[in-house]
Amino acid sequence: MAKELSRCLTAIQPSATLAIDSKAKALKAAGLDVVGFGAGEPDFNTPAHVIRAAIKAMEEGKTRYTPAAGTPELRKAICAKLERDNGLTYTPEQIVVSNGAKHSLFNALQAVCNPGDEVILPAPYWVSYFELIKMAGGVPVLVHTSEDSGFLASVKQLEQALTPKTKAIILNSPCNPTGAVYSAGQLKEIADFAVKNDLYVISDEIYECLVYDGTVHTSIASFGPEIKELTVVVNGLSKAYAMTGWRIGYTASNTAIAKAMSNYQSHATSNPNSIAQAASIAALEGDQEEQRRMVSEFSRRRQYMMQRIAGINGITAVTPKGAFYVFANISGLLGKKYGDRTITCAMDFADLLLENGNTAVVPGEAFGDPHYIRLAYATDMQSIIKGMDRIERFVGQLTD
Ligand code: PMP
Ligand code: GLU
Repeated sequence: MAKELSRCLTAIQPSATLAIDSKAKALKAAGLDVVGFGAGEPDFNTPAHVIRAAIKAMEEGKTRYTPAAGTPELRKAICAKLERDNGLTYTPEQIVVSNGAKHSLFNALQAVCNPGDEVILPAPYWVSYFELIKMAGGVPVLVHTSEDSGFLASVKQLEQALTPKTKAIILNSPCNPTGAVYSAGQLKEIADFAVKNDLYVISDEIYECLVYDGTVHTSIASFGPEIKELTVVVNGLSKAYAMTGWRIGYTASNTAIAKAMSNYQSHATSNPNSIAQAASIAALEGDQEEQRRMVSEFSRRRQYMMQRIAGINGITAVTPKGAFYVFANISGLLGKKYGDRTITCAMDFADLLLENGNTAVVPGEAFGDPHYIRLAYATDMQSIIKGMDRIERFVGQLTD
């Protein structure tokens, strides 16, 4: 009999968001006209000046190993970005560049967790946090938020989740999947709570530039030296510059955490891609006009999607303030039937919709709530119109 595989690895679930995206892409490749509201991946091309910078980097021979934590030039450019956009002052030694923000989150959790440490995770949560905490030997402690509170966790809830084993809190504002954005006042309260209880805050700010209707993003690290010392700011290029395939993410943290992550990464992956690093400097330092255009297009799609949802019986949604997802409540459809199949949870709804309505959505189970589905509006308007038509038709075919 084969020897047992690692228990740590076999306990990990696959990423539902990536799985649904692969399934939708495979169906499309097989010739089916599938609309993908699955993975959160901007449909825009990477800006031309970023692509040119990558070509130039290759021609200039920037095709070799770089320091494991990233080139000094990119780390300097990241420091300038953090100063410019977030009012945060870091030195390049406090920046670690990794293979996407997901890798940065992995490193951050590996750096702060010892086996059995508890990490507070507001739910609904992005699918990977739960597994990343487990991968670091930590224990996810969920704090359930609801539509009534705008999907925001209060300090009171965090206090209730606190135990002597609590080590860190994961914050994701703007939030995937709910689109919730914490106000500066709410973040200040959470910062005070973290400082009082000596908790690390892993602050995933990857959607910071995707905010709508005058909403402002604030980094929790900006409320003074004590909270800055405890915070690992996570960010990346994937969403802000339509660079999902380039795989560049980064952290800004205190020097001890940065050193631990850099050492770890030096054995696990070495540096992230040298060409993508050079291109990232062009993205961060160059013209930000394309980003502004992307944000206004996302906002237009978001409004359209919300308007269509309002016209579908049994589905409701809170208007998202950020990111590019609508987290739609399908409680009103649970118990209904498609043919002889009963919809008991979001997974049933998503399966039946994909099979019968050729539209991919992510079931809320992936984010800790089976009453919701997540619709990404990071796809073109034509497809959004088609997908919403299909959802409306599909829901219209459900019976009691
Ligand atoms: N954090 C959140 C909340 C995300 O939605 C994503 C999307 N993939 C990531 C991190 C990771 O992004 P990437 O690894 O592409 O930089
Ligand atoms: N973050 C995106 C999503 O939630 C991309 C897929 C992933 O990395 O999980 O859909």
